[in-house]
Amino acid sequence: MTTTMILATRNKGKLREFNHAFEGTGIEFQSLLEMDGAPDPEETGETYEDNARIKARATAQYTNLPTVADDSGIEIDAMPGELGIKSARAWGGMAYDKINDILLERLQGATTRATRYVCAIAYVDPATGAEELVKATCEGVIHDRQEGAGGFGYDPIFFLPEFGKTMAQLPLETKNQISHRAKAMELLKEKLIRK
Ligand code: IMP
Repeated sequence: MTTTMILATRNKGKLREFNHAFEGTGIEFQSLLEMDGAPDPEETGETYEDNARIKARATAQYTNLPTVADDSGIEIDAMPGELGIKSARAWGGMAYDKINDILLERLQGATTRATRYVCAIAYVDPATGAEELVKATCEGVIHDRQEGAGGFGYDPIFFLPEFGKTMAQLPLETKNQISHRAKAMELLKEKLIRK
C-alpha cells in the first residue's frame, strides 16, 4: 500500500531527494507544484524547527493530508548571528558565486573557518494531530576559494576535510548520503516507518 504525503515545497530537486530517500517504504511525496493556492506562510520562527513546523502545519491544514516540511541553512562560526535561518533570504536575490566571493573575503584572517549546514524537518498528520520533528547537521570548513560545479548555494566554498573536496565537487550520490538533509531524512524515515 502506498501512503501519499505532501512535501511543502515547490522545489523539484527537494521532491526528488525525498522520494529517493523514501524508496521502498511505501511513502510517496507530492509537492505543492500541482496544488494551486497552497499557502506560503512567512517563516517567522526563531529556529529551523519552528520554521519547518510553521510550513508543515499550514500546508497540512490546507491539504488535509499528512505533510512534511523542511528548513535549512548554513552557520559560519566566524559570523555569529548571520545567515543561519536567514540563509535563503539574507542576500536579496544576489547570485551565489558573488555571495560566496563576499564570504571568502569576509573570512580572510578569521580565527575559525568552521561551518555547518543544518536541516530540520517537521511532520504533521492533520487527521490525528500527530507531529514529529528531526534535525541534523553536516560539519565542514569554509574553503579558501570556490571549487566544483555540483550542488547549489554555498556548496563551492563548503569544504569537507574527510573527503578533501568541497560539497560542489562531490558526486550528488555522495552528497545525498552525507548532507544535513540526507541525515535528517533518515531520522524522519525511522520515525515514520515505526508508526
Ligand atoms: P530553505 O529552502 O528555506 O530551507 O533555505 C535553505 C537555504 O539554505 C538555501 O537557499 C541555501 O542558501 C542554504 N542551503 C541549505 N542547504 C544547502 C545545501 O545543501 N547547499 C547549499 N546551500 C544550502
